[in-house]
Amino acid sequence: MNFRTIEEFDIARKRVVIRVDLNVPIRDEVILNTARVKAIIPTIEYCLRQHAEVVLLSHLGRPKGTCDPKFTLQPVAKELERFLNHPVEFVEDWRTWLRRSADSEHVLDSRVQLVENIRFEPGEESNSNVLGEELASLGDLYVMEAFGTLHRAHASTYKAVQAARQVGIGFLLAQELRMLSLAMVSPQRPLVVVIGGSKVSSKLKVVQHLLTQADTILIGGGMANTFLLAMKHTIGTSLVEIEFLEEVSEMLSSGRIKVPHDVMVCDGSLDEHGKSIHRLVDEVKAQEMIVDIGPDTARCYTKLIKQAGTVIWNGPMGVFEYDQFGEGTRVVGKAIGESAAFTLAGGGETIAAIDHNDLSQQLDYISTGGGAFLEFIQGATLPGISALRAHACNNDRCRN
Ligand code: ADP
Ligand code: MG
Repeated sequence: MNFRTIEEFDIARKRVVIRVDLNVPIRDEVILNTARVKAIIPTIEYCLRQHAEVVLLSHLGRPKGTCDPKFTLQPVAKELERFLNHPVEFVEDWRTWLRRSADSEHVLDSRVQLVENIRFEPGEESNSNVLGEELASLGDLYVMEAFGTLHRAHASTYKAVQAARQVGIGFLLAQELRMLSLAMVSPQRPLVVVIGGSKVSSKLKVVQHLLTQADTILIGGGMANTFLLAMKHTIGTSLVEIEFLEEVSEMLSSGRIKVPHDVMVCDGSLDEHGKSIHRLVDEVKAQEMIVDIGPDTARCYTKLIKQAGTVIWNGPMGVFEYDQFGEGTRVVGKAIGESAAFTLAGGGETIAAIDHNDLSQQLDYISTGGGAFLEFIQGATLPGISALRAHACNNDRCRN
């Protein structure tokens, strides 16, 4: 379904409430990755050009429904100001603010306001009707722009969408949906999926779904160990999820899954002092831990990536945080970057690995969603999308 984008509304001298995803990694008030801040700038700039007043809503971290200064969005307001080159007002007490604005019909165009962490509200995560209605009533138009939070049915992503009179989507969300559909719905073939990382249980669902779509699935990272064990290889002390062995064996019988035939194991501690040793998969010893794919596997994966029409990448091939265990991720990442295929990547650590290897300019699209990206590519219906769809249907835009 095509949702109405912000451009389809007359927002001149109107108050526009935008649910964004500014859940960024912060240490000592410094934002470690600004991709999500940058990604929402075009929508805000558009509103400013249209002389609308902007109210931004977001969450940050998991503050458990009460005010916790550790999770304040204040540093993000400053970063936003820098990217926008325009003042951003930080609104701590948004209820008082709401009363004040409701009393005045006067919309202040060129005003950008960021409301304090919406998860300080107990009703946010419980998807409260009351909070949803309150948020929807903050403006004339409610805009969904938080792709990274679409997999949550929360007051600001679900009930507010239901309650708002007019609902649109921002440029970022429109782009995310377009790019993900391009890779998932009508991909150029062959569709090659590269899956790694460590969240085996949640990612197996992704592999399962993609088996119905993809031509080849390349497995690396901690994910690979469960597959290797299912193939009766010794994997020593490697990360594994034994309860999925049966499922994994079944998946292997499809013949479309490739697993490493050589790996790197860690000699010593899993830190900057540990050494990386090459092993064929049937040579791994009982006390060893697999921490990366091996060079032959990386070469084989590179070849398949070069022949692809579309590549979807989620999950590093090894513990890339330490250089000596990061070669597999570097080689495979470089192959994806150089591939003529349409290339799409997503996932928290995947993006960190892309940045680490300076590849961000070489991929066609990097999703701002972690969990939402994973759920989307496993074919799940995201609650945020359901809410948008229901709203669109109620407004006679349903096509069926
Ligand atoms: P993403 O956030 O991109 O979806 P995950 O969260 O699933 O990825 O996993 C990323 C983590 O997986 C990285 O921090 C990396 O160190 C770890 N990892 C990769 N390969 C292995 C391995 N063989 N053993 C243990 N951890 C691994
Ligand atoms: Mg992760």
